[in-house]
Amino acid sequence: MLWRIMRSLSYKLFGNPVSHSLSPQIHTLFAQQFDLTLSYTTQKVETEDFLNALEQFRIQGGRGANITVPLKEIAYTLCQHKSTQAQRAQAVNTLYWDKDNQLCGDNTDGIGLVKDLKNNYHQILENKNILILGAGGAARGIIPALLDENPKRIYISNRTPLRAKDLIKDFNTPKLELLAYEKLNEPLEISFDFIINATSLSLEHKSLPLHPSIMKDHFAYDFVYNLEYPTAFIQQAREHKAKQAHDGLGMLIEQAAESFYLWHQKKPNTQPVYLFFRKNSKGLLI
Ligand code: NDP
Repeated sequence: MLWRIMRSLSYKLFGNPVSHSLSPQIHTLFAQQFDLTLSYTTQKVETEDFLNALEQFRIQGGRGANITVPLKEIAYTLCQHKSTQAQRAQAVNTLYWDKDNQLCGDNTDGIGLVKDLKNNYHQILENKNILILGAGGAARGIIPALLDENPKRIYISNRTPLRAKDLIKDFNTPKLELLAYEKLNEPLEISFDFIINATSLSLEHKSLPLHPSIMKDHFAYDFVYNLEYPTAFIQQAREHKAKQAHDGLGMLIEQAAESFYLWHQKKPNTQPVYLFFRKNSKGLLI
């Protein structure tokens, strides 16, 4: 009987790396709010094995999946049905199968980030300059929700220029502008209210080549989170005297809540989950 319940509510995070992820704990805490029993596990998968792994999971009774680095753009191409947010981003972080076994994709990263910035840090994005570092699946995922907040301009800077150019072309709005990666190391005339690190560099404990003036007195945000110690980007933001520097824990919990809603049609309360993890984190807020 228990096996049947677990089989009927089985979820997974696919990506590489995934071992650091708090998603299994977050979804378990959400499920407890509704007395739901579910299984949420992680699976490290190489890009070339992803399609096969996803199909195996479905055959074994998987109901839905979250997708992380570096698979969000590939996952998008596999979906038969794509939400508006997914179509705008051309990247997905949430998958599920409909009653006809058609793969459906959505993207909850953007709403997750915006909710964290607005609800937890009381930030206003309207008419603000935003610098996004990175142009991968996660960067794509947040742009629709950021544009909906009507910022002044969003600058994109990526190590591989073509990827940033493609992203800007796909969104096709004058609000998005390219900033050459080499320029990050120089003092700039433009001032950014928000500097968002959407690269995976902090996972490798590495910093970006940023001139100290870029983050000074501004709001710095790292997508990567770490409960044990500040990420490399948070450390850099502190050294460069950012006004505030935060990791991506709040975003992770908010995007997870949106995925949870897509799968279970129930809205979890994110605050106790956020406080549960934050209570156990050491010195991440400045
Ligand atoms: P992708 O693999 O799609 O993109 C990775 C990005 O990081 C690219 O822009 C890549 O640049 C850049 N990058 C990687 N290595 C380097 C390097 N050595 N120097 C400079 N740039 C580098 O990953 P995602 O976009 O899916 O995820 C990015 C990060 O965001 C991950 O760490 C992920 O865990 C995190 N994330 C956190 C979320 C949260 O809720 N907190 C939600 C979503 C993502 P290039 O194109 O040149 O390779």
